[in-house]
This record gives sequence, structure tokens and C-alpha cells, in this order.
Amino acid sequence: MGKIRFELLTPGELKQELEGNGLVFLPVGSMEWHGPHMGMGMDTCNAYETSLETAKITGGVVFPPFFTGTETPRSPETLKKLGFSGEEEITGMDFPANSLKSMYWPPKLFEELMRCQIGMLCAMGFRRLVIMNGHGADEQVAILDRLAQEAKQRYGVKAAVILPLFEECGYGIGHAGLVETAIMSYLHPEAVELSELPGREVKLRNVDYGIVDNETFGKGPNEDFTVRYDPRDATEEIGKEIMETTIAKCVELIEKL
Ligand SMILES: [Zn+2]
Repeated sequence: MGKIRFELLTPGELKQELEGNGLVFLPVGSMEWHGPHMGMGMDTCNAYETSLETAKITGGVVFPPFFTGTETPRSPETLKKLGFSGEEEITGMDFPANSLKSMYWPPKLFEELMRCQIGMLCAMGFRRLVIMNGHGADEQVAILDRLAQEAKQRYGVKAAVILPLFEECGYGIGHAGLVETAIMSYLHPEAVELSELPGREVKLRNVDYGIVDNETFGKGPNEDFTVRYDPRDATEEIGKEIMETTIAKCVELIEKL
């Protein structure tokens, strides 16, 4: 197996990649609050490690990850689903009770940064582009979808955006909940400290911990606005199982490119 990390390939080796399958992964995520129990780089670590593992199977090279994500203010409707009054001004996962703020880039700047990077990769001669996006915020997803379309039209490349969190993994997905915590426990055990969360007798209210199920964002809350898919159930074994499903799904999607 050849080298996978873009930054370590010599120009000669890069040329060979371009003449070969011409596939490049661009991992991107966020630097964002993921509960008091997890490193803030979760989304990007997931995107990067998934890219590296997938590339071992599909071939291609992986560009260094961008810990750069964007967010927008939440609507009163969403705030109410989370257990807020709806009057608050809250951007992304930056809930008032959090001890630190996330590092959200303004959407326009994020878009321009990604547009330039994608443009340079296409100009170098890559013909298949996989934008591996670990941060599922609506605005981020919309921007990256738009840029993938743009790259297809402008450079004639094949491009796909993949969010490496799949329903098929068999566990309830959410922000900083069971699935993300399990993945991080597997990838970087030192980045998870479950002791930062209260004992099991305490249910985790969304507003107190900044942990929210996708189901709450989508369909709505449970009876007491708490987390359904509990990060305290996360283990490295579950994380390994989820990663295996994720990588298999990514390989399948890339083979279609
Ligand atoms: Zn996340």
C-alpha cells in the first residue's frame, strides 16, 4: 500500500496518484462543544480517521483535516424542541450553560475557504473528490453540497459529500450522544472522560449538557427534554463496530463515483 496522507507524498508520488485513480479526500468538521465529556474536535477526528481507513480500501490520498466548521443562529421552533423558551439567541451547540464556546467560522468565510481548497485540488488534477464532512449543521451541509455541484460544473470532476454518521450503524445518532462518544472512545480514548457527566440516576437534559439526539432536532423531544441515546453507554467496542459499518458504507458510496 502506498502513502495516503497528501502532505507526505512527494510531487512524483502525487503525479502517480493523479494519473492513477485521481481520488482525493477532503476531511472537514468543526471545533465545537461536544458535551463536557469529549474533546471539541470530534467531528473532524471522525471525518479524518474515516477518510484514512476508507482510503486504505479505495485508494486515493487524504488531505489534512480542516477543524473548521460553521453554524447559524437557531430558530425559536428548534429552541423549543431542545427545552428552551424560544427567546434565547443561540448559535449551533453553544448553549448558555456550556463552560466554553465553540469556534464557528462565519458561513461566507467557511464557504470561501472550502471553495479555494477544492479549486486548488481540482486544478492540481484530481478527478474524484470526496468531501468527508463530520459536522452535520444545516448551513455547513448546504454549503458543501453547493461546492460539490460547483466543482462538477467548473472542473468536470466527480464529487460527493459524505457525512460519516449513518443510520445503518444500528445506534441512535445525535450530537455528542452515544454514537459520537463511542466513535471517539474508539479513535482517541484519551479524548473521552465520562466521569465529567453525572451518575446514571441523573437524566441528561439537552439544555444543561449541550447533548442532543438527531431525533429531537428532527421529530421532537421526549417527555422531559433529555437525551435518549446516552453517551454514558458508549464503549470502544461499540465505536469499533460503528466505524466498521461507516467505512463499508463509504467504500460503497465511493465506488459509485
Ligand atoms: Zn459532532
